[in-house]
Amino acid sequence: MKESINPYNGEKLFKFNELSNSELENKIKVAHECYKDWKDVSFKDKTTLMRNAGNELRNNKRKYGEIITKEMGKPISQAIAEVEKCAWVCDYYAENAEDQLQDEIVETDAETSYVKYQPLGVVLAVMPWNYPFWQVFRFAAPNLMAGNVGILKHASNVMKSAEMIQEVFENAGFPKGCFQNLILSSDKIKSVIENDLVKAVTLTGSKPAGASVASIAGENIKKSVLELGGSNALIVFDDANLDETVETCAKARFQNTGQSCIAGKRLLVHKNIAKEFTKRYAEKVKSFKTGDPMSEDTYIGVMAREDLAEDLEKQVSGSVEMGAKVVLGGNRKGTYFEPTILSEVTVDMPIFKEETFGPAIGITTFETDEKAVELSNNSVFGLGVSMFTSSKDRVKNLVPKFVEGAVFVNELVKSDPRLPFGGVKISGYGRELSSHGIKEFLNKKTVYVK
Ligand code: NDP
Repeated sequence: MKESINPYNGEKLFKFNELSNSELENKIKVAHECYKDWKDVSFKDKTTLMRNAGNELRNNKRKYGEIITKEMGKPISQAIAEVEKCAWVCDYYAENAEDQLQDEIVETDAETSYVKYQPLGVVLAVMPWNYPFWQVFRFAAPNLMAGNVGILKHASNVMKSAEMIQEVFENAGFPKGCFQNLILSSDKIKSVIENDLVKAVTLTGSKPAGASVASIAGENIKKSVLELGGSNALIVFDDANLDETVETCAKARFQNTGQSCIAGKRLLVHKNIAKEFTKRYAEKVKSFKTGDPMSEDTYIGVMAREDLAEDLEKQVSGSVEMGAKVVLGGNRKGTYFEPTILSEVTVDMPIFKEETFGPAIGITTFETDEKAVELSNNSVFGLGVSMFTSSKDRVKNLVPKFVEGAVFVNELVKSDPRLPFGGVKISGYGRELSSHGIKEFLNKKTVYVK
């Protein structure tokens, strides 16, 4: 039995019965049967359906947003923005998939040679609760347009969102079986990956979940894509525009109540401006409205589950015990965690070394560009980094030195359907979004005609 519980007020929202083994097997068969026809559906027809999905989302953004907010505590304005972003990714692939998947002519000594992109079949997506709609749509929109079909194992605390996502595709007119929600526990994932009809798997979540899924996929010689955690640095050089940088760095850490893989989690500030920056940053963060996630003006809600808030509490108190200073916040009440800023953070403290998945950030100072890069790269994660500077030369010199999936300059790291998204090191492998993401689960067939 799966249950959704509102993390803001403890209200029990929805209950779901898990699928039996035979129901699960049947759903996978239905997906495969659907794939047999779906792979040959024209781009024109798929485009119409994907546009419908975008419109369905836009037309019902409050309904879907409210489900997100109730299930995982995200402020309603951000939940509605998430639904709108899902509509954007549907529109983007409706518009671009056909071009992206054209045969790719390659000059060789053959009369004609080219690469043909063809779908693989049923793809399993194991997804997390932090962006319950977006994480799924950024997988589903490209894959359905490419001719694959999707089955979803969503996080146990957001099963109503999962049900609603299936409903979006059904309401848009996609054939039965093109996208199905599976109500499952993670211990059933092995049998799904092992099923001959399932061809590949993508997971967004923690390292242990990713490692488990990837090893099962590996044993079965099936392709996997992993989008795991991150501990992005926000690097503020002493020539940065402070007003804009304070705003952007506050948003980078505290939007979605800090529960984002690409959030800026380590603030690295040049010593010359550290005092002024810290003062202004604390003022900005203090101005964020906290409280009921259902209120339009709430910016920081509650964390999705109490155990996650407890984990963050340990990381913060552990860092303070090691000498970090509390600039703001530091306390927890149930799922509510005060927006927290620590200063004098060193590389051995949990708030620097570990991924923190909530509204807390540590400030570390540096004096040279080399030290800033060294601190930024001093992480087991490699999802992205933001640097704030007005020097174009510095940008040119430093961009190649970061061991990251993305470098953003004077902007927070964000996902955009037009750009590839993914990490290096233990942040995972493979890419989502853009022309790169749509090709992850395709057979790149070489054709050579003499
Ligand atoms: P998990 O990685 O445990 O959950 C993500 C998804 O994986 C869920 O659908 C979960 O299902 C499933 N899952 C968990 N364990 C396994 C497994 N062994 N095999 C297959 N599937 C599995 O994340 P948590 O919710 O526990 O969050 C813990 C930490 O993970 C966070 O603090 C954060 O550091 C990181 N995280 C990163 C995210 C990102 O965007 N990269 C998103 C969410 C979390 P179920 O819910 O049923 O356990």
